[in-house]
Amino acid sequence: MALPIKNGKITNPYGIKGNLWSSGRHQGADFATPTGTPLLSVSDGTVVGVGQCWGPAFGNHQVIVHYVVNKLNYWAIYAHCSADFVKVGQKVKMGDKIALSGAEGNVTGPHLHFEVHTVDRWDKKTDINPQFLFDLKSASKEVALKKAATAKKVTPTVREITSALKSKNIKSE
Ligand SMILES: [Zn+2]
Repeated sequence: MALPIKNGKITNPYGIKGNLWSSGRHQGADFATPTGTPLLSVSDGTVVGVGQCWGPAFGNHQVIVHYVVNKLNYWAIYAHCSADFVKVGQKVKMGDKIALSGAEGNVTGPHLHFEVHTVDRWDKKTDINPQFLFDLKSASKEVALKKAATAKKVTPTVREITSALKSKNIKSE
């Protein structure tokens, strides 16, 4: 696995609590970075969503990629992008430039919000610490492995994912 930004640093971690988020906690990890920073695919995967997939809070150039890691399925969203370079159904390789960072949607400044879920029905309970995907040591290993064990071994259709995502209209940062 690779970082979504080359040499990127998490500036607002997963799981912190606050009023910025409709769920009351941060469901992704933020990488503060100037608008226009290349955003890279963290692994080999398939693009399943491009555009305003998950409501306006994440901006107009969201990219969602389906990854299979250790035979388990994960869905990652790259949010607040200023541009996207991929199409639904496209296969991407680890390190491919899939979008540019930005400050679209509900933000306090330019950054990447990177969020990962274990099932296609994205809700308040299926997110995992994204650090698990690219740096197991710095995540809580126990929690990460437990979540990985519950990740479903199913692959939803693109339509199922996009309809599930469109039903969301959340605050974000
Ligand atoms: Zn965020």
